[in-house]
Amino acid sequence: MEDLISARSKKIKRSEIFEMMALASKYDNVVNFGVGEPHFDTPESIIDYSFNETRKGYTHYTVNAGDLKLREAISKKLLRDNGIKADPDKEIIVTMGGIEALLLLWLATVNPGDEVIIQDPSWINFNSQILLTGGTPVKVPVKEENDFALKASDIEERITDKTKLVLINSPSNPTGGVTDKEELIKIGKLALEHDFILVSDETYEKIFYEGEHYSLASREELRDHVISIFSFSKTYAMTGWRVGFAAGPEKIIKEMIKIHDSVGLCASSISQSAAMAALDVEKEVEEMVKDYRENRDIIVEGLNSIAGISCIYPAGTFYAFANIKELGKKSLELSRDILDKVQVVTIDGRSFGEAGEGYLRFTFATSKENIKEGIARLDNYVKKYL
Ligand code: PLP
Repeated sequence: MEDLISARSKKIKRSEIFEMMALASKYDNVVNFGVGEPHFDTPESIIDYSFNETRKGYTHYTVNAGDLKLREAISKKLLRDNGIKADPDKEIIVTMGGIEALLLLWLATVNPGDEVIIQDPSWINFNSQILLTGGTPVKVPVKEENDFALKASDIEERITDKTKLVLINSPSNPTGGVTDKEELIKIGKLALEHDFILVSDETYEKIFYEGEHYSLASREELRDHVISIFSFSKTYAMTGWRVGFAAGPEKIIKEMIKIHDSVGLCASSISQSAAMAALDVEKEVEEMVKDYRENRDIIVEGLNSIAGISCIYPAGTFYAFANIKELGKKSLELSRDILDKVQVVTIDGRSFGEAGEGYLRFTFATSKENIKEGIARLDNYVKKYL
């Protein structure tokens, strides 16, 4: 069959992270700064609660929107931590990770030709999902000189009559940049003026080192204009459980629930029970964030000690986005060469968008020994091969 593969599928590429992992699998003794996930296992109390519930027979489908008990607990969490008021019955959906919440959102709102403004560089799947669902991603560069924060004026320049949604990811993957409250409020004003929907991806809301996280959906005047995306993956070291949620206007959530029925029916009930327990976990989250903060300081200091590399301190997440422009190689070529020569996995900044050229992403959710070893190898690489 000549045209077996859809034009839709042909629009997107396989993620560079998976390409790098495939290349790295050929080597022993790799130092891995590639995959973006906690190196911790899920806290015991979450596993225990979920396993007990499972043994008691909590093994069935839940309603499409997610178990009402969990949505009620999420609603309380949103009010407590984020100042967001969300009706558990109508304004919350539990999904298979934040990634599914995003997919459902595009499927529910984007028509062919609609424009979605996203930051550049940004998490690879924003771009891919928008392309897959027929939208046009419009890129707003976030710059190192602004600590990789979004600027409302840069967004404003890109608004057209086709702008349907604007995505904010703060703290951001891959840069660790945080957009502060003042700037977020300016972006919120644009949403009201131009009547578009703001998508606030708050996956890293608790992995925060400077300032405080601010949720735009807490503003009363923006209630109809913000949909917030959350994930259990990074905060609670629960990447494998695949559970997240979205909160927002009933008219959008209702459509997302309808589509979710066709996509996955419901999030795994076993994972939903784990999510229930996770919402009570505080101590372990604090400990993990403390560890990431120490790692951040070690890796940034280490990167800055290498000639030709510079790196600002990320205000959130467990990613360092290092400037490698002085090393005189394109980021993809450099990341592949570093793997070949000294077996360190980094991710090419360009794979997160054009504005990521000249940078490499380092995930520092790993052991301190790994970070020190990786930095020593990198230093050796620059001295010996460049
Ligand atoms: N949003 C951002 C910015 C991410 O970095 C990720 C995962 O890396 C997600 C959403 C999705 O996370 P999950 O589907 O594991 O909840």
